[in-house]
Amino acid sequence: MKRFGKKAPKVAKRHKPEITPRKDHAISRNNINPNALKVLYRLHNSGYSAYLVGGCVRDLLLGRIPKDFDVATNALPEEVRRVFKNCRIIGKRFRLAHIVFGKEIIEVATFRTHHENASSEHHAKMHKGMIVRDNVFGLIEDDAWRRDFTINALYYNIADYSIVDYTHGMQDIHEKVLRVIGNPEKRFLEDPVRLLRAIRISGKLHLNIAPETETAIIHHRHLLREVSNARLFQEVLKFFQEGATLSTFKLLEKYQVLEELFPKMVACFKQESIKQFIENALIDADQRTQMGKTVSPVFLFTVFLWPPIEYEAKNLEKTGLPRYVALEKSIQTTLKAQMVLLAMPRNLQTAIREIGLLQHRFHQRHGTRAYRLLTHPRFRAAYDLLQLRAKTEEPLVELAEWWIKFSESDTATRTTLLKTANNHSGVKKHKQGRYRRRHKEIH
Ligand code: ATP
Ligand code: MG
Repeated sequence: MKRFGKKAPKVAKRHKPEITPRKDHAISRNNINPNALKVLYRLHNSGYSAYLVGGCVRDLLLGRIPKDFDVATNALPEEVRRVFKNCRIIGKRFRLAHIVFGKEIIEVATFRTHHENASSEHHAKMHKGMIVRDNVFGLIEDDAWRRDFTINALYYNIADYSIVDYTHGMQDIHEKVLRVIGNPEKRFLEDPVRLLRAIRISGKLHLNIAPETETAIIHHRHLLREVSNARLFQEVLKFFQEGATLSTFKLLEKYQVLEELFPKMVACFKQESIKQFIENALIDADQRTQMGKTVSPVFLFTVFLWPPIEYEAKNLEKTGLPRYVALEKSIQTTLKAQMVLLAMPRNLQTAIREIGLLQHRFHQRHGTRAYRLLTHPRFRAAYDLLQLRAKTEEPLVELAEWWIKFSESDTATRTTLLKTANNHSGVKKHKQGRYRRRHKEIH
């Protein structure tokens, strides 16, 4: 069935939500974070309405464990503060209450409305005549319509444990469809980051994107160029942290959004092995997540930037620059170009640079250099990158295997390995001698 997400009604024309009673849905209080439950009950017992909303309701309905639990209420931030001792008010434009339980924070947001829905009368009423910064508080239905996707606008009501649905989100949950609320073209124009969120959430939860939402993603993908590089970086970081990097990557590619984020990497896809290299990294990353291990976003960023770094370095080498200098330069230019799109923090840039440069040092398999490399703080990540490269670059197979043996062997075997490697490396005689002498002194 093809249908657009329902159009947000004007404030005057309210309509009733669909209510799913407790017996007809699968959300059990056993699966709700105990601190979130405490917050919901306390607000409810103080006379306010209190709901779980957003990703946590969506994830619980889909049988997943939510990342965080967000609460929505009709209590104003000051009122929330009066109810909780452990409460901080944060945010300048939109004030939110953070209820602090040791290391855990439950975010409580007062129902908000779309700015266009906020008449001055409504504004004054909600604020008892006071304009509180940029906050435009509203009713629960306003809060539902301003959200991005129908499945993100479901409210779990602590008063009777029902689900409150203004946008046909429950139907989309059952059909596993991600659909923008309202007109997708308009909603993406309002905030282009929503199109990235659509891809990330569908990739993570294996949802189908509704046809009109799909079309709008393709039409408006170029709007991402207008989003600040800081916000884009934060969104892209989430892609790398959610354990479904391969399916998300394929969606980014399908909707041609990948080239908006990593144009230099996509330009290298003319070579089939490059795409395979990236996909191999994502398969590994997803397997690690499934095994409960962590995945380093630093590593994945490096993997994404490695193909253009290597391409540029090879071009520079053709102009006569030594490999190391070419690599240094190409890392610098690739990072600079990427920074225009994604504001990668300095420590991430440094890590990418170090891991990239170590790729060259892996070829120097003699004496102290090889030993020193083993103790380099970025050795592990650089080694993983080398192993990954070897899967699609035949000439690197011997080198990669050598480093597996060298890193896992005892000193006696390492000495033998160094001898064999030196035989292949073509390092000048006098240099070999110097390294051997030094190596003896140290080890
Ligand atoms: P995740 O599992 O990644 O946290 P999420 O949907 O919970 O997914 P959040 O960034 O935590 O994402 O946002 C919480 C909720 O706020 C969303 O479910 C959605 O209802 C609303 N929201 C977030 N970003 C936007 C946006 N750009 N436009 C409209 N609503 C948004
Ligand atoms: Mg969330």
